[in-house]
Amino acid sequence: MPPARATLLGIPYDAASSFKRGPALAPARIREALWSPAGNTWTEGLADLSAPGVLADAGDVPVGDMDHSAQVRRAIEEHAERILVAGSRPISLGGDHSVSYPLLCAVHRTHPTITILHVDAHADLYDEFEGDRFSHACPFARIMEEGLATRLVQVGIRTLTRHQREQADRFGVEIIDMRAWAAGRRPSIAPDETVYLSLDLDGLDPAFAPGVSHPEPGGLSVREVLELIHGLRAELIGADVVECNPAVDPTGVTAMVGAKFVKEIAAVMNDVRPRSTP
Ligand code: MN
Ligand code: MN
Repeated sequence: MPPARATLLGIPYDAASSFKRGPALAPARIREALWSPAGNTWTEGLADLSAPGVLADAGDVPVGDMDHSAQVRRAIEEHAERILVAGSRPISLGGDHSVSYPLLCAVHRTHPTITILHVDAHADLYDEFEGDRFSHACPFARIMEEGLATRLVQVGIRTLTRHQREQADRFGVEIIDMRAWAAGRRPSIAPDETVYLSLDLDGLDPAFAPGVSHPEPGGLSVREVLELIHGLRAELIGADVVECNPAVDPTGVTAMVGAKFVKEIAAVMNDVRPRSTP
């Protein structure tokens, strides 16, 4: 039997967070929201996620027993690579955003030419943050330095610093910041590109996703992110949904938003998109 088109991978890891801990709790909360009887298993374009071959679950990367961040990164990379080599597409549930670097190391091996679509309030391009080059503030500096992506397109950015502006210029990062987004700019990704989507939930406005470690007002709506996902005409071969922090998400709404994105990402990986607006 061929593998499912999309495969969940939990990464209960938040030791690379610079401020609050909590995202390690997210994979369990997002899965709970995903399969909650509060909703159903159908996506907006009518894919049934519970049908065979649509969405599998590879469980969690066992990071709990590991002492060193290098060991954690290796484990994340190996687990993601296993999914890709089997012919499926990983949807990783973070975890803080540091997990994207080892995930892209794995993706690079199977897909050497990749466009990353990165939704975030933050560019995460610091060369190092508080002495840590693998902090959740740095993954895209590592990814670009090592040539793991051909293009990096960032959407929702609203916290640039001078240093990160320089880093973005150095790496040729295409930034659609929130002001450009509000003025109508949208990413332009050709259908023949191969895309990896990295979705930091703080890219959303805190009104929609308050349960994150670094809430930043003035962000995207849930519907705007869904339109980005549904609008992808290129092949989507992997994704991560990161920075949901259940420790500051008492109503669970942020995990619910994460689960909603997981559903629609899985649908697009299965080539099911809603029909264009009536
Ligand atoms: Mn981030
Ligand atoms: Mn962020």
